Amino acid sequence: MLAIRALGTEQATYENYQSYIESDDPELVGNVMVCLCAQAGYLLDQQLRELERAFLHEGGIRERMTRARLEARGEPQPAAMLPTCPLCGKPMRQRTARQGANAGKPFWGCTSYPDCRGTRKFAEGGQGM
Ligand SMILES: [Zn+2]
Repeated sequence: MLAIRALGTEQATYENYQSYIESDDPELVGNVMVCLCAQAGYLLDQQLRELERAFLHEGGIRERMTRARLEARGEPQPAAMLPTCPLCGKPMRQRTARQGANAGKPFWGCTSYPDCRGTRKFAEGGQGM
């Protein structure tokens, strides 16, 4: 069983499991299938956790589509979709880094800049954080 589980840590291909799956020992074949089902369940669980995290941080499909459309039009985003400043709590606006390692990349900057220098990574998104 452990040898079969170890196969799943690498790039999983049929060839990795072929000698077990095509074995004449039905117990071995059954164990391979149980391991593959467990691995599939684990991967689905990981995917659900990632989708939940993305939903909480970036919103559902409607929120993301609305944000993308407003960005494409160059319109300001509704205040309810904007993140709030981690330092003062005011709404943030999308800015573009002019220098440093992130030059040219978007980030969220506090609307009270330069009085407040609060920022958030752009990937953190909005929805009133
Ligand atoms: Zn601020």
